[in-house]
Amino acid sequence: MKEKLKTNVEMICSVSELANLFHQGQDIRGFLSQVVHIVSRHMQSDVCSIFLYNEQKDLLVLEATAGLNPDMVGQLTLLSGEGLTGLTMKELRPIREGRGRDNPYFKYIPGSGEDRFESFLAVPIIRGIRRVGVLELQDEKSSRFSKADVLALKAIASQLASTLENAQLFMFLPEKNEPSIQITEGSRLIRGTQVVEGVALGQAYQMEGPGAEGNLISTCDDCYRETIEDFHRAIDSTERQLEELQIRLEEELADVASLIFSAHLLMLRDDGFSGSMANMISEGTRPSDAVEHVANNYITIFANSDNPRMREKVQDIKDLGHRILENLLEDEGEHGDYSGQIIITNELLPSELLKLTAQNIEGLVLYGGGVTAHVGVLARSLHVPLIFSEDESIFRIPSNTPLAMDANQGLLIVNPDNAARKRITQLIEGSDRIDELEAAARPETRTVDGERIYLRATVNLLSDLKLAKRLMAEGIGLYRSEFPFLIRSDFPSEEEQYLIYKQVVDGLENSLVTLRTLDVGGDKILSYIPDTKEANPFLGLRAIRFLLENKKVFVGQLKAMIHAGGNKQIRILFPLISSLDDFLNARKIVLKSLSFLKRDGLGQFPMPKLGAMIELPSAVEMAPELAKEADFLSLGTNDLVQYMLGVDRTNEKVADLFDIRHPAVLRAVKRVNDAAKEADCPLSVCGIMSKDPRTVYYMMGLGVREFSMEPGKIPGMQNAVSRMDIQQARKDAEILSGLGTQEEIRNYLDKLKLPEPTI
Ligand code: PEP
Ligand code: MG
Repeated sequence: MKEKLKTNVEMICSVSELANLFHQGQDIRGFLSQVVHIVSRHMQSDVCSIFLYNEQKDLLVLEATAGLNPDMVGQLTLLSGEGLTGLTMKELRPIREGRGRDNPYFKYIPGSGEDRFESFLAVPIIRGIRRVGVLELQDEKSSRFSKADVLALKAIASQLASTLENAQLFMFLPEKNEPSIQITEGSRLIRGTQVVEGVALGQAYQMEGPGAEGNLISTCDDCYRETIEDFHRAIDSTERQLEELQIRLEEELADVASLIFSAHLLMLRDDGFSGSMANMISEGTRPSDAVEHVANNYITIFANSDNPRMREKVQDIKDLGHRILENLLEDEGEHGDYSGQIIITNELLPSELLKLTAQNIEGLVLYGGGVTAHVGVLARSLHVPLIFSEDESIFRIPSNTPLAMDANQGLLIVNPDNAARKRITQLIEGSDRIDELEAAARPETRTVDGERIYLRATVNLLSDLKLAKRLMAEGIGLYRSEFPFLIRSDFPSEEEQYLIYKQVVDGLENSLVTLRTLDVGGDKILSYIPDTKEANPFLGLRAIRFLLENKKVFVGQLKAMIHAGGNKQIRILFPLISSLDDFLNARKIVLKSLSFLKRDGLGQFPMPKLGAMIELPSAVEMAPELAKEADFLSLGTNDLVQYMLGVDRTNEKVADLFDIRHPAVLRAVKRVNDAAKEADCPLSVCGIMSKDPRTVYYMMGLGVREFSMEPGKIPGMQNAVSRMDIQQARKDAEILSGLGTQEEIRNYLDKLKLPEPTI
C-alpha cells in the first residue's frame, strides 16, 4: 500500500512536469500522445487514452491513445452517455470495472483493438463546471485497478485539466484547416464569451480591479531637464488634442458624443488642477512629479467619494494625467491615446466606452456578468471587439503584457507566440469584411420558393445608418433611442432629440422607420436620475413603466419623434408592454403629444403607427387583445427569452440556460404569431432569435416575414434564407412547436442541416 502511495505521489509530480511538455513547441496531438504514454507507463496499464469533449457537437473524441489502435485517433467519437466512457462524462464520476464488458453500458467499438482488455478505469476531466474530457485506462488483466488507482488517476486528471482544456479549445476551433496555434513558454489561454466579434493584437491595460495600478506613475528617467515652459506647452498640447478629439467625435458620433471629453477639459483648465501643478513647479518641484502628485491627489479624493458619479471620474483623471505626462516627456506628436491597448476591466460605463473608442482602443475584455448588456450593444455599433470572461485571473495580467484576442471564439491569449500572432494578424487582415458583405447584399430577400422576407436594420447609433444603407436593409426595424440618453449627463432636450431622430428618419431610402421609445432601467441606468437603485432592476421601473411614470420625458420624446417624422408615417414602438392598459395609456400620451405639437406651432402631423413590444409572458398572454389595438407587434426576443425562462440575459453564470430554442419560447412565438395573424396585425421580430438561421427558419415556417438585426448580419441572413424552402419550413415549424424537450428540438433542427450564411 505504502509502495503504491509513493508511486502515486511520484506520478503526480511527474504529471506537473508533463505540463512542461506542452511548452516545448509540441503540437497538440504530439503533446497528448506523450501524456498518454507517460500515464500508462506510470500506472503500469496496457492502455491509456484521452477523449476530449467537443462542446459544440456534444461528442467525445478520442484524441490520444497508448495501446488502442492509433488509427482511431480523431475518428472515434462517442456521445455523452454512450458506452462506459460516455457515461463517465455524462455522470461526471469515475467508473472502475474488473471486467468492462460486464457493465450493461459497455459498448464494443469494432476496430479499436480493445477486444483483449478486461479491466477498465475512467475519470472525468473537469475544469470548474466545464467538461473537458475523459482520461481512461484499460488492462489485459481483470480487476487490475484499485481504489487507490482511482484516486491517482483523478489527481492526474485534475493536474492536467487546465492544460487539457487549452488543448480542447484548440482542437475544436471551428477553422480546423487554419494552422493550429502552439502554446509555447509563458502563453496562456483565457476563455470567455464573444459579445462583439473581431480580433485584436495589443498590450493589456488594466483599468481597474485588483490588478490595476490605482495611481498615476510617471515613468520619466531624465525629468530634471523639464522646465515650467515644457509644462505649459504640455498643457496646451493636451488641451488641443482633447478639443480635436471632441470635434472628431461630434462629427462621427453626433448623437452620443456631446461633450464627452468635457470633464477632461474642465479639469485641465481648473486652477485647482493645472494651477496647483504650476504652483508646485514654481516652488521647485519637477514638472512630472507635480503632475503625478496633483493627479494622484484628485484620484484619491474621487475614488473615496460616496457619490458614484464622482467615482466615475477617476478614469478621466488618469487619462488626463497620462496625456499631460506623455506630452511633457515628448514635445512632438500625438500622445495619450490607447492605440495598441486591450482594456481589461470589470465595469464600464457607455460614456467611458465611447471615450476609449475615440482614443483608439484595440479591444475590450470585461469581467463577466453585471450590468453590461448595453455596453455590449454599444460596443457592437462602435465595432470594438469585446469578450466577457468569468476568469478572475484576467485581473492578474500586468498592464503592458502582450495579448492576442480572438473575440470570434471568445479567446484571449496572454503572451501569444509567433504562430498565434501570425494567425491573429491574418484574421485582422481578413476582418474588414464590409466590402465583401456589400458585394453580396441584394435589395430583396426571397426564399428558394419565392416567398418575400423583409430583413430590416436594428440601429443603435446614427453611425449604424451608413452600414444599413450599404448593406441594403429594407427599412429600420428597431431604433434603440436610449444611447443619447445614456451618454449624456442630463436628459437631451426635445430639440436635440428631434435632430437625432430626423437623421434616423431620413437615413434610408426605404420609408419604414421604427423608433422605439426610451428603454431605460434594467441594465440601462441613467446616472442623472436620483434614487434609481433597485434590488431587481429588470423587474423594476424599466422602459414603458419609466415613461408612464415620467410623463414629461415621455411627451418630450414623442413630440421629438413625431416632429422628426414630418409627413412620413413613422412607426413608434413601446418596449416592455405588460398589459393592454400600458398600451392604451401610451397611446393617449401620443395623442396628447400630437396636440402639443400643434399648440406649439410646430405643425400638424400624421398619427404614427403604434406598436407594442412583446417581451413579457404577460404580453404573450395578452397578444390577441394587443394585436387588435396595436398597428403592429414586435417580438423583442432578448427579453422574451429572459423573462419566459427566468434567466438574466446579462448573467454569464446562467448563459447556458438562455436557450432560444426552448419549447416554451418556440410556443410563445407561435402564440403571438397566431394572435397577430388572427387580428391581421403585422408582426416583426428583433433581438437574438432574428440572428440565428434556425430560429428564423422556424418563425418563417410559422408565417413571420419581418426580421430586424444589426446591419452587418443582413447579407449573411439573406444568403441563408435564400436557400430555405417556405413549404418545408411550414411543415417543420408545425412539428417543432409540438416537441416537448430542448433535446428533441435541438436534434430535430440539427437533422434538418439548415443552410448557414456562407459569407
Ligand atoms: C429585445 O429585447 O429583444 C430587444 C430588441 O430589445 P433590447 O435588447 O434593447 O432590450
Ligand atoms: Mg428588450
